[in-house]
This record gives sequence, C-alpha cells and structure tokens, in this order.
Amino acid sequence: MSNRTPVLFWFRRDLRLADHPGLVACQAARVPVIPVFILDPQTEALGAAAKWRLGLAIASFRERLQAIGSDLILRRGPAKETLLELLEETGACEVHWSRNYTPDAIERDQEVKTALKRAGRHALSHPGHTLIEPWAVSPAASDHFRVYSPYWRAFRTIEIAPVVPEIEALPAPALWPRSDNLAGWRLDAAMNRGAEVVARYACVGEQAALERFAAFLDEPWSAYRNGRDRLDLAATSLLSENLTYGEISPRTIWHGVCASGGDQEQGGETFLKELVWREFSYHLLYHTPHITQRNWRAEWNAFPWRGDNEQAARWRKGLTGEPVIDAAMRQMYVTGTMHNRARMLVASYLTKHLMTHWKIGMDWFAQCLIDWDPAANALGWQWVAGSGPDAAPFFRVFNPATQAEKFDPDAVYRRRYVAELAGDNPGEAALAYFDACPRHWSLDPEQKYPEAPLIELKRGRERALEAYQHYVVKN
Ligand code: FAD
Repeated sequence: MSNRTPVLFWFRRDLRLADHPGLVACQAARVPVIPVFILDPQTEALGAAAKWRLGLAIASFRERLQAIGSDLILRRGPAKETLLELLEETGACEVHWSRNYTPDAIERDQEVKTALKRAGRHALSHPGHTLIEPWAVSPAASDHFRVYSPYWRAFRTIEIAPVVPEIEALPAPALWPRSDNLAGWRLDAAMNRGAEVVARYACVGEQAALERFAAFLDEPWSAYRNGRDRLDLAATSLLSENLTYGEISPRTIWHGVCASGGDQEQGGETFLKELVWREFSYHLLYHTPHITQRNWRAEWNAFPWRGDNEQAARWRKGLTGEPVIDAAMRQMYVTGTMHNRARMLVASYLTKHLMTHWKIGMDWFAQCLIDWDPAANALGWQWVAGSGPDAAPFFRVFNPATQAEKFDPDAVYRRRYVAELAGDNPGEAALAYFDACPRHWSLDPEQKYPEAPLIELKRGRERALEAYQHYVVKN
C-alpha cells in the first residue's frame, strides 16, 4: 500500500477524537483517512429519540473533524455494499472500526469482514467502546459471570489501559468522495414529539461531554455518595447520554476519576462501580445475547406476564395516579433521560404491580431515551423484573410511595414534572411535558390528575407475588 492510499474509518458509536485507539492506529500509519458514517438498516432501526440525538451527534462530530482538516462522509445503505462501493471509489484497501457488541452488530461486522477479505481488502477492528473487552474476564468454571459482585472483584484485578493521545490532525485524501446531506436523512422524522424541548436538556458533542465530566469532577465525592439516589438532586454525572454515542470514552472517565484521587474515596469508588455496571451489561450481552429478547432465566418462561394493555398505556402517558411513577415517565419525555432510581421504580411498577412484560417497557425506553444503550437497558429491565441476572429477590417489590418519601422527601421531583400536582404555578419542566409527549395523546395542562391510582399498591404486590410463587418458584 503506497502511503497516499487512503484507509476508511467507519464510525458508529465512537464519535470523538480523544482516546480513540482505532484512529490513533490509522494516524500511526501516516496514510490519508476517510471518515465515514453509514446509515445502515441497524442505524435506521434506532428508537425515535436516540435516532434524533444521533443526528445531533453526527453534526457535531463532523464539525470537529472539519476543524482538524478532515471531514465525515455520510452514506446510506447496507454496510457491506456501501463500504465495498466506497473502497472502489476511493481506491482504499482497508476499513477500520471500533467494535460494538450487540448480536446484530457482531453478525453485520463479521459479514463485512468476510466480504472485504473476499475482495482482497482488509478489515481491522479496534477496542474503545468499553473499558475492557467483554470477554476479558471470566470465572474459573465458566466463560462468564452471572452475578455482579464477583465480576467487579475480577474486574478490579485488571489494569485499565491508559488513554491514547487526542487526534489533532488527520491526513486528508487527495479527493473526497461524495457525501449525503445529513438533513436529507431526516433522523428526526420519528421524533414527532417536542424535539425542541429535549434539545434544551441535551448535551451534545465531545467538547460538551468533556466539560460535563470536568464539572462533575469539580463536585465533592460525598455529593455523589450521599445524593446519587435522590430523585430531587442532580448528583450524578449524566454521562450516559455521551457514552452511548462515544462522545467520551469510558477510559477517559475511569482515568479522570483516578487521577483526581476519586478511587481513594468512597463516593468515587461507588461511581467507578456504576461505570463497571455498564461493563457488566456488555459482558452479559456478549455471552448471553438472548438478554435483549427472552427471559435471561429460563425458569421465568411460564410467568403469566400481560402483553400490552390499557394500564400500560396509562403508564406510558405518566397517568397512573402514582405520583413518583408519573413524574419519572414525564422526566423521560422532557429530558430524554431518567434518574436511575426512577428507572428502577417505573420498571418495577410495570412488571410487578401491573404484571406487564418487561419487553414492553424495555422497547418503550428504547423509543424515548436519548441515552439508550442496548446492553444497559436490557440488563436494567430484566434485573428489575426478576428474570435477569443477580436479581433482587422478586418478593422485594419496590413500593413507589415509600420510595418517593425516602428519595424525594419534599416532593420536589414529583412537582417538578407533574403539573397537576404543582399547585397554581407549575414550573417549566412540568409544563414542557405537554409539548414533549407524543402529539396524538392530546394532553393539556388543564387536565385533571387521576383521582385513584391504577392499582392499590398492596393488592398489586400480592398478586405479583402469588404469580411468582406459582409460576416460577414451583416450576
Ligand atoms: P452515573 O451514576 O453518573 O453513572 C456513571 C455511568 O455508569 C453512567 O453514565 C452509565 O454509563 C453507568 N451506569 C450507571 N448505572 C448503571 C447501571 N445500572 N447499568 C449500567 N450502567 C450503569 N443506562 C444507559 O446508559 N442506557 C439505558 O438505556 C439504560 N436503561 C436502563 C433501564 C432500566 C430499567 C434501568 C434500571 C437502568 C437503565 N440504565 C441505562 C442504567 C442507569 O439507569 C443509567 O446508566 C444512569 O441512570 C445514567 O445516569 P448517569 O450517567 O448520571 O449515571
């Protein structure tokens, strides 16, 4: 390969220049690099909010590349055919990418690899989406962990590779291939619910992600330790939004925390453990890919979960009559994200009190979250439902009322998002919900809050436990 022969870099969930091992490898070869983003069928299938947010991420990253004398070529079509076409057009003979670990991505990438090989070209994949590869740790007797704590202990024995230097220039090809127009992709088309509301809360792009992280590091670790479960406080990093598009690398976060001495403090250690929950979710997705489709524990297969139903529709609308559940669902429409404890509460309410299948909730989150992550979402839903790994015993059904008292003691969170509970002067976020929820719901701020909750909490709990005893324990 002459050193003017370009290589293609196929970007997916790695839209950054800092700590990007794949780009550093290309740069080291001193050849022109053609950055490419492909709107392939898997990307087309993203949920409405994630797809809209991806559009913002691509626009921001393209500017970033242009600022260092490069560009981002946009193409639409199946990945394999599109890459082969681009290789023909540009004379490139290598394609690089950062690895993804969903079963669909693995299958697609394998097909691309085989096709490239057949065409006499090379495919090179790189790490970077996770701190360690999902297969890097395993227990003595099996290829994967089933429980988080031993995973964490094994994880802690591994040295996390240092971050690689930020890319400051990328050699451009003599000729740029044609690019689609991003606006023409209409990545916002399915977001027919107040994108402009969510945009106020989104924190888009690599620079913004790094600033968000820096601001988080400026806070004392005690604030995270004491406040991370509080619904009414902003004590967590909110970095899930940026991690999912690769606007910041998990290694930048890990080493940033350690460099600030955070790993020596209880709050910092707790935060690192949370980051490693993300690793654990990829570990499980890789080794047990059925986690996104079927009960992770087969003994749950007889459990009589309900399919979609009228009560689940009220849950989606934030109109269950259970204030903390409704506040949480509305937070998701307004901000595109939801507090971790709130995610646990709404998932527990849907799967246990309303006995509705976790997949219905998981798929709805995939439509509405701008921080949607295939691994963390699937693990979160199955973990809470009880059908997943390391399940809290099923009989520990979250009680939304007592949880609200504990984690939202002055009802600040509930009033922030539920206008009907906020008295005469509902705040901006509470009112924004009516612009941010799907248009066809035709909800308005004058509506009355449900007089009675969908189900009496004690009754819902008992019904779920009976079913659990009958269909899971005795099976
Ligand atoms: P912080 O507390 O600041 O944590 C730092 C990082 O650690 C997060 O950004 C995230 O990458 C990781 N992390 C934290 N908690 C978890 C966890 N329980 N599982 C996996 N990773 C974690 N997270 C997503 O990123 N995308 C999802 O689609 C998603 N769906 C979920 C669905 C359910 C039902 C549940 C219970 C949890 C889900 N989570 C998901 C995990 C968690 O709620 C979010 O990662 C967290 O709320 C993000 O906020 P933060 O960045 O401020 O977290």
